[in-house]
Amino acid sequence: MENPPEQDDPYGGERVRMVREQIERRGISDPRVLRAMESVPRHLFVPEPFRASAHDDGPLPLGEGQTISQPYIVAFMSEAIRPRPTDPVLEVGTGSGYQTAVLSRLVGQVDTIEVRRTLADLARERLRKIGCANVTVRVGDGHGGLPGEAPFDAIIVTAAPQEIPPALLEQLAVGGRLVIPLGTLDQELVRVTRRESGIDREVLLPVRFVPLIREALRPD
Ligand code: SAH
Repeated sequence: MENPPEQDDPYGGERVRMVREQIERRGISDPRVLRAMESVPRHLFVPEPFRASAHDDGPLPLGEGQTISQPYIVAFMSEAIRPRPTDPVLEVGTGSGYQTAVLSRLVGQVDTIEVRRTLADLARERLRKIGCANVTVRVGDGHGGLPGEAPFDAIIVTAAPQEIPPALLEQLAVGGRLVIPLGTLDQELVRVTRRESGIDREVLLPVRFVPLIREALRPD
């Protein structure tokens, strides 16, 4: 006999509520994104002491002074890259791996780069446990992207530099979308779409992310 659903997935109901109240209500409508947000067990990406708050409408600490993004922002960025089921995607700033897990249900392959080894190792283990087979977690400075795997149909950056790192633009396929927060305190989320000639640039939303750091400056 199967276990009752609440035994298998004690937070399933909370996730459905999170998606209805925080995400759909604010205008996210891509059904694949909504389904991914309902199915990824967010509580497993949050440190134990914060588990009861895993579905709150805000960011949470994930260790090493970093934060796991607010559910709405994860959904917004996932929709903003216009994910297609076969896309190869690059993520910079793995953090907890939560955004990675959501992406892995929306696209073909996710390569994700995290500069802090401890966070990368934890994220890799969590992603393996929930069966995300199409994800590769790497340790390094994401400013340089991943030239060996380029071009990418989408690139998502979850830490904020001042300017778009040139390597990331270079590694975007024609028609590819890059979504990235830019700035220091008053940041804006920007989407760049690469065209045959030139790029389109749109400002999407005011946001607040941790800074994208240079590996050489890493406090280890
Ligand atoms: N998307 C994450 C949240 C990321 S917080 C989640 O869903 O949990 C931003 C992450 O970017 C932090 O883990 C930080 O260590 C990482 N980071 C900062 N600078 C970086 C760089 N240059 N290259 C790769 N990762 C970086």
